[in-house]
Order: sequence, then C-alpha cells, then structure tokens
Amino acid sequence: MLKQLPIILLPKPVLRQVAKEVATGAIKTSEIQKLISSMKETLKNTADGVGLAAPQVGESLRIFLVSEEAEYVDNKKLPESVEKRSEDKKRDWKYFVYINPVVKKISKGKIEYPEGCLSVPGKFGIVKRNEKITVEAYDETGRKFTRGASKFFARVIQHELDHLNGTIFIDKVERYLDVPSNGTKGKGEMENESSIFMK
Ligand SMILES: [Zn+2]
Repeated sequence: MLKQLPIILLPKPVLRQVAKEVATGAIKTSEIQKLISSMKETLKNTADGVGLAAPQVGESLRIFLVSEEAEYVDNKKLPESVEKRSEDKKRDWKYFVYINPVVKKISKGKIEYPEGCLSVPGKFGIVKRNEKITVEAYDETGRKFTRGASKFFARVIQHELDHLNGTIFIDKVERYLDVPSNGTKGKGEMENESSIFMK
C-alpha cells in the first residue's frame, strides 16, 4: 500500500517553515513508517530526483531521503548492490533515510555545482556548497548512525538539510543557468555530465 504523494511547490508556506524533530519513540509508529514509505515511492517516481525532504510532501518534520544514485554520481560506478540487480531493476535505487539530522563536521572548502529542486521546477543554478559533511541522524529503524559524505552526496545532504530549515536553493544561488526544457537528465542518460539532478 505505497502511496505516492504530490510534491509541494513554492510558494507553499510549509517549504519555508523550520521542520519539527521527530520524537525518537515515534520513528517506528505506523504514521512515520507510512510517511517514509510514501516518500520513497514519491522520489522513485520523479525523473531526476536524488533527494527528498518531508516538507516537500507537506510534512513539516525533520526527515529526508538521499538516493544511492548520489553514490553512483560520485563514483561513476554502480554500487555493488545495484550491479547484482537485473537491468530493469537498476533504477530501483535504495534510499538512505535521515531523521533528526545534526551536522557534526563540515569542511571549510566549498565547490560550485549546478542544482535544481523538485519544489522549484524549471529553475537551475550554480550553488556553492561545502565539499564534505558529517551528519548524525536516525535511520527508519530508529538506529542512530553517523555518516561522512563528500562531493555530490555531501551536496544532496546540504540541500535537504536546508529544506528542513525552510531554505531553498534559490536563496543561495550564485547565478541561474539557462537549461532548455529537455536539458535535464532523462532516465537512461546516466553518462550525461551536464545533467542536473533534482532534490
Ligand atoms: Zn529541493
């Protein structure tokens, strides 16, 4: 019973709110588990999405997902778990769940890269982000974990953390990019370096 949720677009106020923490005792409740499953289903059904935060589906809670596709972007190699899957299942990425994420470490170095947002369709721009970040969070089973990330994965995490604080990439954009409507990455065009992922 997976339900795909509509993606909330600007200027809906929920995207500008500071999202609330999830009570750790509530992570295993059916309400939160259903929300996470629905978020996974929603992200899976976007063409270019690699990340999704709960406010983007109208829930002002500190939860976000990052697709393992972000690891592929960094490594230019399919994760082993994906390689073993059949061809038509390869797009069936796993999603890493971050609940109540807290930044533990962030690098001084910043890099520029194009960004797009599922909640701001049609707009793309260069955003400066810290190169590395270490985050502590709870996963969907309620287990606390710490994960370090760099490059593209680190960028997705920072984009999603911003969503939990009511910040959208357009607040930070250095300059907008003129991307033709067919210029974003289509499914099956994984090698296109100029593709822009949505988060
Ligand atoms: Zn976004």
